[in-house]
Amino acid sequence: MGFFSRNIKARDTEDEQTLDPIAEHDYSRRVELLESFEKSGLGWFWATDGQGRLIYMSKSALDRFGKTEADVYGTLLTDLVENDRSDSDDEYARENRPLAYYLGARNSITQLQVKLPLRGEDMYLELAGKPHFDDSNRFVGYRGSAKDITRSRESRRDAERLSQYDSLTGLANRHRMNKRLDNALAQYRNSKRSCALMMLDLDRFKQVNDTLGHPAGDELLKQVAARLGQIMNHGGEIGRLGGDEFLIMLPDLDDRGELGELATRVIQMIAQPYSINGSRAIIGVSLGIAIAPYDGLDAEELIKAADLALYAAKGGGRGQYRFYSSDLKEGAKLRRILEEDLRDALIKDELVMHYQPIVKAKDYKLSGFEALIRWEHPERGFISPEIFIACAEDIGLITQIGEWALNKVCEQAQQWPVELRVAVNVSPTQFGGDDFVQVVQRALKKSGLDPTRLELEITESVFAGDDEQTLGIFKELKDLGVRLALDDFGTGYSSMSYLRNAPFDKIKIDQSFVRGSTEEGNNNSAIISAVVSLAQALKMETVAEGTETKDELELVIDRGASHIQGYIFSRPITNEEALERLAKGELEYEPRGPEKYRAERKTVYRTVGAIHEDHRYKVTLRNISKSGARIEGLLDVPVGTEFVIDLGDGQLAVATVRRSKKQVQGVEFETPLISDGADGLCTRHRVSPYEIEAAGKPLAALSKDVYGQLAADRPISIPRFAEVDTSTG
Ligand code: C2E
Ligand code: MG
Ligand code: MG
Repeated sequence: MGFFSRNIKARDTEDEQTLDPIAEHDYSRRVELLESFEKSGLGWFWATDGQGRLIYMSKSALDRFGKTEADVYGTLLTDLVENDRSDSDDEYARENRPLAYYLGARNSITQLQVKLPLRGEDMYLELAGKPHFDDSNRFVGYRGSAKDITRSRESRRDAERLSQYDSLTGLANRHRMNKRLDNALAQYRNSKRSCALMMLDLDRFKQVNDTLGHPAGDELLKQVAARLGQIMNHGGEIGRLGGDEFLIMLPDLDDRGELGELATRVIQMIAQPYSINGSRAIIGVSLGIAIAPYDGLDAEELIKAADLALYAAKGGGRGQYRFYSSDLKEGAKLRRILEEDLRDALIKDELVMHYQPIVKAKDYKLSGFEALIRWEHPERGFISPEIFIACAEDIGLITQIGEWALNKVCEQAQQWPVELRVAVNVSPTQFGGDDFVQVVQRALKKSGLDPTRLELEITESVFAGDDEQTLGIFKELKDLGVRLALDDFGTGYSSMSYLRNAPFDKIKIDQSFVRGSTEEGNNNSAIISAVVSLAQALKMETVAEGTETKDELELVIDRGASHIQGYIFSRPITNEEALERLAKGELEYEPRGPEKYRAERKTVYRTVGAIHEDHRYKVTLRNISKSGARIEGLLDVPVGTEFVIDLGDGQLAVATVRRSKKQVQGVEFETPLISDGADGLCTRHRVSPYEIEAAGKPLAALSKDVYGQLAADRPISIPRFAEVDTSTG
């Protein structure tokens, strides 16, 4: 008491005023206080009667709502406001119990967010209230307060949006996608729904970013996001995980045929050229697809599966999609091992250069060699550059390997007894490096090789970014005196405008045009003609790559190719073999190979299951196409017999025997298979884990042997057909 009295006295003397607190019984001053509070808009009061009808609302609130007492009094509070559930995955809103629930149970209300629909803009209120009882404990209604939270709610939502959305593209960010996927998958498990996940990673984005600059890279990402939005306009949530990675969630989609088509559309759409502040940029995209519950039940498992599929798509040469399958785990393991080993391969001297002859079309005389890198792995034997070059690019080893190759080739070619040209492949990453021109210059100087003997093979993808800069490097290289060849022509980009200014000496027609060019009904020979006349007009040489057969040789010569490279003359040979040949002066080649091109039939030798009447037989799959397959291993199966072919991983395809001869049957699938994104085929649908669950097994992602799992406790029926061993044939 003493403290307060002293304090009050001190103020008294200061202000010359007596303190006049509002006493509890001073009703008029208390009402005045409440009124000024109501008017200030800091808060309002409301009250209902025992039936929930409004009997009071602060005047300033009514003014603010644009309503009169007559509008409001007598209406139910629950008719006036709605529960605020506009943001259904906003946890705060989700936890908001509906107002009616509180009122019905006569519970106290605290901090309840509600929406007040108004003409113009909706208003959001935060309500508090307590049930009120009379002296005989009868409920007589609610007394409560309300606060306008429209503004603060908006800024909270803005902040949330920022933390949930990627500010560059406006797409959901990783955080939100994870949360959405977690929630969706948990819900879908109960309602037995499926959900596909596409994981995307742009190809060559880094290159564009590096050559055109970060603002251009940002702009490109925005345009990519917009294109994705266009393709997905019918549903599916798109998110950006960061960098050049995107994720698309597609509820209720488990048809791999549809998903494959969608993926193809995405790949095509993303590959169209972009215009960025007047510059042209080209990128590609790789896609990995996983489907819940087949490939994973929860977000973590499913994302891992999609990630592995993406990894495989990238490894498969980019610009592709891939479905997850259990084999990919093995592939990923192998790739990690390769990555590890590749780092040592250079030091351990495991890399060597082989040389493939390129001959002149007019006299089959040797014109030069293309240097092709080889990796002799101590345990795994020879590994194709198609696999490890991509790997080297990913782990940032390509510049080092490329420099090594360039030095090695210059050094070896300098020692050949005949001064022939030698071509070296240059990866786009190596080409885009800061000091590529200097690296070439150093290799020439160190070896003493005449620059005019060195040819650099470059692919069209170096034109993905800043063409000016690319042309600048070309000029510097030409100034050194080296030759430039355009490799794999026709496989990259639709635009050829760069050919106008690029100083190529040679165009290499990609093997995919040469192969099969003699078959009826394809355009390959017309394309070869067109490329040759284009090259002639630009005064460039042409090499027909991958010429294997006599009829192909005849065709490419007839179409005017100036040079030929392919197995018809020689496979790549070692440096020793090249030295020997040159020393002997054997500079002329003779075509040696099959007369005719034969379309390669996909021969697979794989053991699969053929199920008939609850009995699964082991058969060998000799041949498979979309519509049917050839199986071996069962004796004398009547035509018309129906089988379920178990292709593994829960892929069961109903098939009918159409041809049958001893142990060989040709079967036709009831539903055609579809492309798996790579060279393979797969079924549209798989056995659903929900079906397996319904059969009394725990819900889990698919295992390799789904049928075995399902049939484990079924009695074994007597086999109808005799099995024969075909594994040796
Ligand atoms: P590329 O530059 O298009 O090389 C031609 C490829 O076709 C070589 O495959 C060669 O062995 C193969 N080939 C040649 N004639 C025929 C034929 O008649 N039939 C068939 N089926 N194939 C034929 P390889 O050696 O496996 O190289 C594959 C790719 O790896 C090369 O394609 C090139 O892009 C890359 N590569 C090879 N060596 C290097 C290198 O030192 N550095 C870089 N960056 N890439 C390299
Ligand atoms: Mg090449
Ligand atoms: Mg090539």
